[in-house]
Amino acid sequence: MKIVVCAKFVPDATADRRFRSEDNTVDRAGVDGLLSELDEYAVETALTVKEAGDAEVTVLTVGPEQAADAVKKGLQMGADAGVHVLDDAIHGSDAVATSLILSKALGKLEADLVVFGMGSTDGGMGVVPAMVSERLGLPAVTLGSEVTVDGQTVRIRRDGDTASETIEGTLPLVLSVSDQANEPRYPSFKGIMAAKKKPVETWSLADLELTAEQVGGSSAWTEVVEVTARPARTAGTIVTDEDGSGAAGLVEFLSTNKFL
Ligand SMILES: Cc1cc2nc3c(=O)[nH]c(=O)nc-3n(C[C@H](O)[C@H](O)[C@H](O)COP(=O)(O)OP(=O)(O)OC[C@H]3O[C@@H](n4cnc5c(N)ncnc54)[C@H](O)[C@@H]3O)c2cc1C
Repeated sequence: MKIVVCAKFVPDATADRRFRSEDNTVDRAGVDGLLSELDEYAVETALTVKEAGDAEVTVLTVGPEQAADAVKKGLQMGADAGVHVLDDAIHGSDAVATSLILSKALGKLEADLVVFGMGSTDGGMGVVPAMVSERLGLPAVTLGSEVTVDGQTVRIRRDGDTASETIEGTLPLVLSVSDQANEPRYPSFKGIMAAKKKPVETWSLADLELTAEQVGGSSAWTEVVEVTARPARTAGTIVTDEDGSGAAGLVEFLSTNKFL
């Protein structure tokens, strides 16, 4: 089975994330980045399926030079190979264009099982898996908190607010997993060393028979027109109860702020 994990390179949430003043896109070059934490669950799912049967795992990313680190992390966790779609024209791509690039790469990789995270930790739209499944004409089994692969059948449990659903589909298909699906493994020293020898291919848009006009900021259906920093968090209100006025103070605070 050919398993491909789509893994996004995102700015580190603990870093000083910012937007580029030139075009209001996220600054991915000047800020430390890493494999999106939510995609580690996708890599772990693929490795678990591989260890239970006969499969090969490829990590696929679309992103700037630094996105090679997302592939490297997947290889260190245990994936067999990597593909990095790298092309300056991709900069500023919206979810529609990202799904186009990923679909072309997945077609070229002839994936049987495509695994996504539940959403990226920067854009966080949670739409790319469905867009890719539509483009590839494949079923989408999404937001699995428990995943089983039995021959050609993939079965998940999806936990909603009021009920859990069991959903299944037949390979080839698109799967996305939630952050409840597993405990991603930490790369072992052996894994880190082995990753250095694993094959990583770098593909351009031309390798995918795509043109610059089809992707990037100029073809985006949405545009970030303005970015305003969120006001710094103010210190909360402290209600003290030295003289027994705590309860009254709390009620005052709750009613003033219309919590009551
Ligand atoms: C703050 C912010 C706001 C944005 N708003 C919009 C918007 O309103 N409309 C719009 O169309 N675009 C928007 N974008 C751009 C969009 O984030 C990118 O196009 C992105 O590549 C796809 O969207 P996502 O990260 O939200 O993916 P999601 O839909 O959340 O992705 C789900 C999964 O798809 C896979 N995936 C996503 N991107 C990649 C990648 N580059 N390489 C490999 N796998 C990937 C991962 O498995 C991920 O877990 C925004 C970006 C940012 C940072």
